[in-house]
Amino acid sequence: MTDPRLHEIPDKVEWDVKHPNKFRGNVKETGIGFMGYDYDSTTEQFKVYLHYDQLYYWKYAEVSKLGKGFIDGEFWGTKCPKCGDKFFPPRVNCWNLDDNLEKTEWIKLKQEGIVHTFTIAGWSGKSSLKRLPFVLAYVVVDGCKTAIANELRNIDPWDAEFGMPVKVVWKPEDERQGTVTDWWFEPADGWEPTVGDTPEKERMKELCAPVYEWVKSMD
Ligand SMILES: [Zn+2]
Repeated sequence: MTDPRLHEIPDKVEWDVKHPNKFRGNVKETGIGFMGYDYDSTTEQFKVYLHYDQLYYWKYAEVSKLGKGFIDGEFWGTKCPKCGDKFFPPRVNCWNLDDNLEKTEWIKLKQEGIVHTFTIAGWSGKSSLKRLPFVLAYVVVDGCKTAIANELRNIDPWDAEFGMPVKVVWKPEDERQGTVTDWWFEPADGWEPTVGDTPEKERMKELCAPVYEWVKSMD
């Protein structure tokens, strides 16, 4: 199946003639690119195509509902029918040893969560360099027992807090690819930083300042 969103696949590879045995030669680094997806509604299998020097695909297999959910703007997690633990990202089997790998059931989750922990990124891959510095957060979604990592946008990095409430914001439907890059977190509506300026915030501002300067110098 060809998806109209599939990019053209590079077909030229330049080998380093001086070092022909070097594994990667001087192949130009193109970075990772998500190319498209397909979904088989009969088997409910969801597959994502990505390009990193060559074309790969990645099967969601038993957690296909997660990837298909991203396309539809839905969060699907799993729940253990024995102990009630909820998981997002989903786990196929319960992790509690007493539950003897009990098979979990799918549940649709609320698109809200709490920041468990976070970091401020001062360096990144090529595709997001110009958006530095940004916040990467591990978020517990809708009372789950596992946390999921994604970017926390629309916040000054030094204002991020442990335990802050967040909401989910989606890319437009026709740009989604069935991956975590289809969405990101933002502070929940009405949220305000609970503390004013603190020495730690001042320290973070100082650390971010040269990053902002550096980003401004990029073309
Ligand atoms: Zn369980």
